[in-house]
Amino acid sequence: MPHVKLHIPGPVEVSPKTFKAFCSPMIGHRGQGFKDLYAKMQPQLQQLLFTKQLVYLSTSSAWGVMEGAIRNVVHKKVLNCMCGAFSDKWLDVSKKCGKDAEGLQVNWGSPITAALIDAKLATGQFDALTLIHNETSTGVMSPLTEIAALKKKYPDVMFIVDAVSSMTATKIDFDALGIDILLAGTQKAFAMPPGLTVFVCSTAALAKAATTKDRGYYFDFIEFQKNAEQSMTPSTPSISHVFALSSKLDDFFAEGLEARFARHTKLSKNTQDWAAKHGFTLYPEKGFESVTLTCINNGAKPGGRAVDVAKLQKLVKDQGFLIDGGYGKIKGLTFRVSNMGDETEETMNQLYSAMDNAMKQL
Ligand SMILES: *Cc1c(COP(=O)(O)O)cnc(C)c1O
Repeated sequence: MPHVKLHIPGPVEVSPKTFKAFCSPMIGHRGQGFKDLYAKMQPQLQQLLFTKQLVYLSTSSAWGVMEGAIRNVVHKKVLNCMCGAFSDKWLDVSKKCGKDAEGLQVNWGSPITAALIDAKLATGQFDALTLIHNETSTGVMSPLTEIAALKKKYPDVMFIVDAVSSMTATKIDFDALGIDILLAGTQKAFAMPPGLTVFVCSTAALAKAATTKDRGYYFDFIEFQKNAEQSMTPSTPSISHVFALSSKLDDFFAEGLEARFARHTKLSKNTQDWAAKHGFTLYPEKGFESVTLTCINNGAKPGGRAVDVAKLQKLVKDQGFLIDGGYGKIKGLTFRVSNMGDETEETMNQLYSAMDNAMKQL
């Protein structure tokens, strides 16, 4: 089978260099070799997330830590900010953890705003909120800086932020934002295989977790902290992922974080231009477009053209690239093109050529 290059918004293409690191010979997770590996990465991870806190590694997809966050720091009631498939699901997850939870729903395509959250928190009912920074299903990036500014007004509310499809692609200054939990799975902008989550907690989040009785074991954040202090993880991690992450971190710093952030912004603009050139509009509300993927309107909203998405996907796939045909209730009414990870103008131009060819045949 010839390889079809992934331009879906996760998992994304993984480089041969990363796979090579992934296939390093196995080592023991309690030995000095592993500790040295984690200790080498720790300052890189801290620099990546702009934090002095220890950064943790969890062998799970993002949902493991998303659920873990609920179990560790929600005592009273959690506000789940909902603007798309992933953020909507967090409400169900909160309820399945037995928590009192309420959704703050906006229309898909719209961002979550600070004003909406402020009005909810003002009721005094909530001791935690969940927010997805970059809602991958709709291609909407919510204004994290403005939202995080609310933390000063509500210091006792735990701000739990999923940056699954934005971490490493745009600056998220964990310490300056003052948020409490930040997490991302590695199969999105990290451009690694799925199965590892990187996360960090504020001292306030750890203090609160320490008082939570039923926080479980596997995602006990106190265990992660204690082990990270020794450059270890609570249980046996996917050591292969840790090797791959180390290689990726070296790549990030060889490129430079600012250059990496700028590259993602530029490439997402290029995809937005491709859409406009072909008469499409974008699904996200103007000004809130993601920098890692473009969600193109294909009849979900008024304006712009609409094509047979399944046929478009097939025509593009025949040329060796996989694009996404829309997620959840906007499947077929949108389509998504990812530029996250290792993509360059050159590789994106190859994709746009294939998409241009496909458009001619529709
Ligand atoms: C992909 C994604 C998830 C889910 O991650 P899993 O790896 O499937 O657990 C959660 N949030 C966002 C924003 C995502 O893009």
